Amino acid sequence: MTDFPIHAALKLDIAVIGAGQAGLSSAYHLKKLGLVPGRDFMVLDEAPRSGGAWQFRWPSLTLSTVNRVHDLPGLGFAQFAGDDETVKASVAVPHYFSAYEDHFDLKVLRPTKVTMVCDRGERLRIESDRALFAVRGIINATGTWENPYIPSYPGADRFGGRSLHTRDFRSAEAFAGQHVLVVGGGVSAIQLLDQISRVTRTTWVTRTPPRWREGPFDEDAGRKAVAMVEERVRAGLPPRGVVSVTGLPVTPAIESMRKRGVLDRQPMFSEITPTGVRWEDGMELDVDVILWCTGFRSSLDHLAPLLLQEESGGITMTGRLATQVAKDPRVHLVGYGPSASTIGANRAGAAAARELASFLDLVD
Ligand code: FAD
Repeated sequence: MTDFPIHAALKLDIAVIGAGQAGLSSAYHLKKLGLVPGRDFMVLDEAPRSGGAWQFRWPSLTLSTVNRVHDLPGLGFAQFAGDDETVKASVAVPHYFSAYEDHFDLKVLRPTKVTMVCDRGERLRIESDRALFAVRGIINATGTWENPYIPSYPGADRFGGRSLHTRDFRSAEAFAGQHVLVVGGGVSAIQLLDQISRVTRTTWVTRTPPRWREGPFDEDAGRKAVAMVEERVRAGLPPRGVVSVTGLPVTPAIESMRKRGVLDRQPMFSEITPTGVRWEDGMELDVDVILWCTGFRSSLDHLAPLLLQEESGGITMTGRLATQVAKDPRVHLVGYGPSASTIGANRAGAAAARELASFLDLVD
């Protein structure tokens, strides 16, 4: 860690790290509280363009296949989404976010990758690939896209086929003529299994049997799901994947996959072989591709010097919507745990802005 004198750093009250749904909602609410972007607070984002992680989503993720992109506060998405449901989410959402940043003049500094945040007593020092900042508080909104999760299995390094995470998936057609093993039991696994099985042979494996959820996922079910995740992070436990609390909705697409025999799920294999995978009982399967639809983890490595983590592996959260880090009230995490959804990020951005600004005596 190179030691810069604090006086070489740009002094601000607050830094918002990340300009996805969570960061933009936080910035909107800081501005609404009277703080001035570029003077009192700065939004830093490493991506080359607006759009948060949406700019990197695979091309077949369209507005008709996303769960739902909730409006950011103060400016609705509909006018940017248009009527064409087949428009790529990676086009429509960045277009919306870019217009949003301009509309509210949020002055996002990009590309700016924050590499480290450390405690320097009265201020937090933020090192980035562009400049140094000395701030009194942070709203971290760095999402999960930078941190794909692939569980380790013996033999992975010997596999002669292609092994990739959903993050790097581009199209089902790229697998034509190959046998694709889809690993994972979440919404992305199901969506990609549906697409790939229409092009080529697939096998589906999950650690536990899928928890199908018949019937609509109404507001009440949504609230219960968020409450379960919130309980975990308030106890300092790592947040679990979304589907662990919501279950898998049985949609018409699922019904048709059932009819096509695509959802005959196998349990997880025990190891990877040079030509495929092997189960405990010795059964083997040759595959050409292993597609890990095994989710993401929060991108928080740059906060490591702050030692926020508990022994349990999580971060104890507090505050009205569990955005404030109990160990360091100068740090808020938005888009983490219960706020890791577009609607959750919106609400949490408002709570974090209000709580941090009052903690720093910037508002009454
Ligand atoms: P992101 O959108 O990931 O934004 C984080 C930002 O932080 C990025 O711009 C990144 O460049 C920046 N960043 C990261 N690290 C650094 C760093 N070190 N320095 C500087 N900048 C950094 N949720 C829904 O509500 N509806 C959906 O339909 C939906 N579909 C999804 C589909 C997929 C494939 C995935 C993976 C997730 C989906 N989600 C959906 C969840 C979605 O991630 C959240 O809802 C929400 O969009 C996350 O917003 P965010 O601002 O927390 O993170």
